[in-house]
Amino acid sequence: MSWEGFLPEDAIVMGTKKSELKDTRPLDSFFQLRKEMESCHQCSLHEFRSRIVHGVGAEHADLFLIGDAPGAVEDQEGVPFQGEAGALLDKMLAAIGQNRTTVFMTTLVKCAPPMERKPNGDEVLQCRSFLLRALRIVQPKVILTLGSFPTQSLLNTTLPISQMRGRLHVWEEWNILPTFDPSYLLRNPSAKKEAWKDLQWVQKILET
Ligand code: SF4
Repeated sequence: MSWEGFLPEDAIVMGTKKSELKDTRPLDSFFQLRKEMESCHQCSLHEFRSRIVHGVGAEHADLFLIGDAPGAVEDQEGVPFQGEAGALLDKMLAAIGQNRTTVFMTTLVKCAPPMERKPNGDEVLQCRSFLLRALRIVQPKVILTLGSFPTQSLLNTTLPISQMRGRLHVWEEWNILPTFDPSYLLRNPSAKKEAWKDLQWVQKILET
């Protein structure tokens, strides 16, 4: 049985057009990617960064996590998903037998926006080629988007996360399962039950 068989009967597959941002370079590496990020001035966020926040994890991982943007702590550390929300994300991963060395995790933009605001559409678009190139290196089985913002941004929709989670979506050549942002779960612990269901689907996909 394919892993799609583990999804609930009402799960739907939403198709999106492949973007014009296709990167056809045959050889790419995280070394090259990091080098280009370090000198990137493609959007105004470079003015505010202390450090580039690279993605972290396994170079070839089955699970690829995408959050919205680095915050102030991440900007200082240069590592995504720090603080209380990062600790909760670590626990969520541990619950399905994963950790920061077995998955790959990153954000839509690699420089922290000022005042912890969300990145705007232009900043996300300017940074998207780094995300696509990382995905093509990692080749994950599934992407877990963390919260409304990265999910809406990738799927080009305004639907709330409550309507997008519990369903499999397709973006570019990738399968996306949306779930709640750990920061949201800290503020709304009752949603952890739903997040756990999302993680169980991810676990089944990874085991298949
Ligand atoms: S957010 Fe991305 S596109 Fe903008 S300056 Fe940083 S690395 Fe470059």
